[in-house]
Amino acid sequence: MKIVYQNVFWLLMFAAYNYLCLANQNVITIGAFFDEEDDQAKIALKSVVHTMNTMQQEFEYVVKTQKVARIDSFQCCRLLCNITQEEGGLAAVFSPTSFTSSSIIQSVSANLEIPHFLTSWHQSAFFDDKHTTINFYPDAYLLSQALATIVRNLQWRSFVILYEENDGLVRLQEVLKLQSYNKHSTVMVRQLEGPDCRPLLKEIRASSEHRIILDCKSDSILRVLEQAKEVGLMESSSYNYFLTSLDAHTVDFSSLHASVNITTIRILDPSSEDFQSALTEWEQYADFHDPNRIQFRPFSITTKTALIYDAAEMFMNSVNAVHVTDPIVPTILYCDSEEKWEHGFRIASFMKVKTNPVGVSGPLAFDSTGRRTNFTIYVVGGHRDNVVATWNAESPDVLTFMRSDNDSYDALVKNMQKGVLIVSSRLGPPYLMERKPRFEGDVLTGNARYEGFSMDLIDGIAGILGFKYEFRLAEDGKYGNYDPVTKSWNGLIKDLLDRKADLAICDLSITHQRREVVDFSMPFMRLGISILYKKAEEKDVNMFAFLTPFSTDIWIYTATLYLAVSVILYLVARMAPGDWENPHPCDRHPEELENIWNLKNCLWVTLGSIMTQGCDILPKGISSRMVTSMWWFFSLIMTSCYTANLAALLTMERMEPVIDSAEALAKQTKIKYGTVEGGATQAFFRESNYSTFQKMWTSMVQAQPSVFEKNNADGVKRVQGSKNRLYAFFMESSQIEYETQTKCDLKQVGSWLDTKGYGIAMPIDYPYRSAINRAILKLQEDSKLKELKIKWWEKMRDDPPCIPVRSSEKSSSELALANVGGVFLVLGIGVGVAFILAMMEFLWNVRNVSVEEHLSYFEALKLEVAFASNIWATKKRTKAKNLQSSSHGDSKSFLHSVMSSKVGTPATDE
Ligand code: GLU
Repeated sequence: MKIVYQNVFWLLMFAAYNYLCLANQNVITIGAFFDEEDDQAKIALKSVVHTMNTMQQEFEYVVKTQKVARIDSFQCCRLLCNITQEEGGLAAVFSPTSFTSSSIIQSVSANLEIPHFLTSWHQSAFFDDKHTTINFYPDAYLLSQALATIVRNLQWRSFVILYEENDGLVRLQEVLKLQSYNKHSTVMVRQLEGPDCRPLLKEIRASSEHRIILDCKSDSILRVLEQAKEVGLMESSSYNYFLTSLDAHTVDFSSLHASVNITTIRILDPSSEDFQSALTEWEQYADFHDPNRIQFRPFSITTKTALIYDAAEMFMNSVNAVHVTDPIVPTILYCDSEEKWEHGFRIASFMKVKTNPVGVSGPLAFDSTGRRTNFTIYVVGGHRDNVVATWNAESPDVLTFMRSDNDSYDALVKNMQKGVLIVSSRLGPPYLMERKPRFEGDVLTGNARYEGFSMDLIDGIAGILGFKYEFRLAEDGKYGNYDPVTKSWNGLIKDLLDRKADLAICDLSITHQRREVVDFSMPFMRLGISILYKKAEEKDVNMFAFLTPFSTDIWIYTATLYLAVSVILYLVARMAPGDWENPHPCDRHPEELENIWNLKNCLWVTLGSIMTQGCDILPKGISSRMVTSMWWFFSLIMTSCYTANLAALLTMERMEPVIDSAEALAKQTKIKYGTVEGGATQAFFRESNYSTFQKMWTSMVQAQPSVFEKNNADGVKRVQGSKNRLYAFFMESSQIEYETQTKCDLKQVGSWLDTKGYGIAMPIDYPYRSAINRAILKLQEDSKLKELKIKWWEKMRDDPPCIPVRSSEKSSSELALANVGGVFLVLGIGVGVAFILAMMEFLWNVRNVSVEEHLSYFEALKLEVAFASNIWATKKRTKAKNLQSSSHGDSKSFLHSVMSSKVGTPATDE
């Protein structure tokens, strides 16, 4: 019993001591105004006050919370003044979020010199060093700089800014300025009005912009994103969102089920020790004091909660610290009096200059006006744990990346493997062709429907990166051309801009104009524009080309005339007295006259004249000379015409225009030339500043019928089908190489007009561009690209390849033997006929000799052959002489005498 009394006594003593101590304690009141329900922040505030009260005995800190309307500044002012008049007065006050309420509270607290804390965004101009206001929320200007640094590092050249409240534009002022530094950047700014943003989002969808900066309260984020999803602004992973709210980490994006890239920012670091211990403190406080038992999870903590906690803790620590040198006494204050709280300004100033405190929201440092000047922003990509970079107010232009390049690459590739990439393409050999079914009834589906270089290339890249893909053909089958009238793109580029595809691949040239609206991978093939032209047609070899100067009719007429004139000459000569000559000119009165103009001689003289060789005998009669001279005249004209015509024909063949370069094409007008409609080659000529190409473009545009073709295949057909090689087609060298492999009548003419490459196109700032580039580089290093080229350019061809022409072949300007073969032939035949005639004459002569000499034909032949083959015998005895010399011998001796004729022995003179 005694022990019980003893215990009761000591308990009463302890209670009395506590009462007396507390009775001496100064009560320090902290007022907190809220314009929205925020139990989390209230508990954080109360818990820190509770902890402080248990840690020190000097003051009892009390929290008075007030709910105020957002725009009722009068109510706010009245409530504030009521608290200042209550016992103990008011030592510090937290403003609500709204600008109207915080302005009036700032004004009253400045008047009464009560420390005033802000925990939401306010413009920098709101602060002044005469005020007792301190803003724990990151300074507006610094935050704006942070946003700009992040956007710059995201490498967004064009984007849409969607803002909810007008403050958003101030927050994004530095981001808007980025536009003026980069002339290629285009920024679209739109305000979200009302709960239904779908019309606005649809407009963005139509604009084909896929990078969106969303500035709205964390409560609105999910609603806006859901609506964005509804209108198709989340269809593919090429959509990128950057949320500027510092509370975006409290939003659960998993309900969106979208594979878009969402970048968020926060100033809280849930992994830090300060954050973890604060979280435990709040949880414990809530367990004992909160009937609703609010759950405190790391990613549910709002920035405001952390800032209120930091501000209250810093304030109480400052009061305790200032109290050591200058005892603090709470004072009742009246708003309508001049009296101020004598300690308020000092406490606020102390807080502003206090060095190195670190709170749940990071380092706490302020300038003299009360703006928070030191804080860290964590940039989060994808999952909320995934901090990719940090920004610190000390170096506002720098973003420090957390991951090594390899880590980032791995994360990127993993992300890529999650979805199916849509690859847009167009049919055109050898890049993409429809695959033939292997057997009848074989139905091909999906990617199996196509084959070609592009398909193999994507397959190779997908093999390295491990993603899945689906090939789709561009609706209009075009490459991608900008129409300045409709201000829109077509073809593959349109598919990318419309988000219908993630990648576009074919023989798609990397051009400056396309690069403005889409990105390209590194080139996988190098090429240049060149000319596809038809080879010179092989003319039929004409052995009798020497006949071409005259038509067949003329040859026939001439031959007929030759015969006719010869006959006429014969007749005339017979009639002309001048042609009857004295056979023995020494005999002045001959018994008979002789006429040499038999038919043989007539034919000979006319032939000699037409061959321009002349003749050893000529007519002497007036009329026969007349006939002959007319024939000479005819011959002169005819041979002159023949020679001139022959020379002209040969020259004409050599005078065909020689097309060996673009300049040569530009200089002439006979041969037309064109390009593919709406391709890079057409654009090359259209945009060129070089005078020759400008001239060529003008001539192409003016040409009738059009020289432009729908695709390369049509261009090739047109070149092949052009008569007399009157059409040349500008095509890319890789394609010319492909066509000339098997189409042996075609050739590439001249060198490249430019140098460029084919690349895989993708939306601007496509996140997987670097991964695709790495894969292409790998394929290139492993010679896979080369193998693919050989496969599709050579091995997979159905037609046999052309046999290359040896360069030693003659140039077309020379006359080949075959061209003049006829002349040789005529000579050969003529000589042959002459020889046959000689033989016949010889045999006939042998016959005469055998008859005259009474020899057998064979004996005579033997003797004549022996004589003819004696090449030394140049003289032959006449028959009269022979008779004389053989009068005493037989005929054999005569023949032997013939045979014995010797060189230099004038047999006839003996
Ligand atoms: N490769 C071209 C392009 O990407 C098409 C063919 C051409 O213009 O010659 O537009």
